[in-house]
Amino acid sequence: MYILLMGPPGAGKGTQAANLVKEFSIPHISTGDMFRAAVKEGTELGKKAKACMDEGRLVPDDVTIGIVRERLQKSDCRKGFILDGFPRTVEQADALKSILDELKINLTRVIDISASKDELIERAVGRRICKKCGATYHVKFSPTKKEGVCDACGGETYQRADDSEETMRNRLSVYEQQTKPLIDYYQKAKLYSRIDGSQQIEKVYDDVKKSLDV
Ligand code: ADP
Ligand code: AMP
Repeated sequence: MYILLMGPPGAGKGTQAANLVKEFSIPHISTGDMFRAAVKEGTELGKKAKACMDEGRLVPDDVTIGIVRERLQKSDCRKGFILDGFPRTVEQADALKSILDELKINLTRVIDISASKDELIERAVGRRICKKCGATYHVKFSPTKKEGVCDACGGETYQRADDSEETMRNRLSVYEQQTKPLIDYYQKAKLYSRIDGSQQIEKVYDDVKKSLDV
């Protein structure tokens, strides 16, 4: 299964990707996670990405396309993958098409998770992530059993710097301007399924599976 998860920031892409990974054992490729790892390691890529991420802008297309090309060429992607947060521009979508053509891979489905602006902001602001294993929680909708401590591995949870309300508003306007045109792009390719992400996490996952016919 070659799945593309689309949707505005905070819609629940990473949460649903974690469910898919558990059930189908295919790699989760999140450009946001890759950039955050690079920032943490202080690599050249991290230096290029940090200022954009802090302000809620997109990292330049050439940089982003380069890391995705390299990642998709790895052998673990042969049996499937979940791409999360890429593509985010028409240029990235065109590049993805040519990368997949080279690899002789056809996308199975593009799943677009939607939610209202108020929900997206509340979700991002309340999001907490484990420093150690990357598991995602929400202070209200999906809390850890013990505050600040990951249920899965006992690691400490933190709030992303770009999950402030102000930066989130920038990210949502970037989404509207640069990423939303991709809905039309994938509708034309007849690969597109829209899912109501304002439902409970389990119900959203049921719809994800229905859209994949599994
Ligand atoms: P994205 O990857 O699209 O930015 P996440 O999966 O990280 O979004 O989810 C954003 C926040 O919202 C997280 O804190 C997550 O726990 C929470 N969340 C995800 N899906 C739902 C849902 N269906 N209902 C309520 N909260 C959700
Ligand atoms: P995310 O974790 O998907 O919310 O992404 C966090 C930040 O990483 C975004 O606000 C961007 O700055 C950057 N980013 C992630 N994916 C992309 C992408 N496909 N293109 C450009 N920038 C990206």
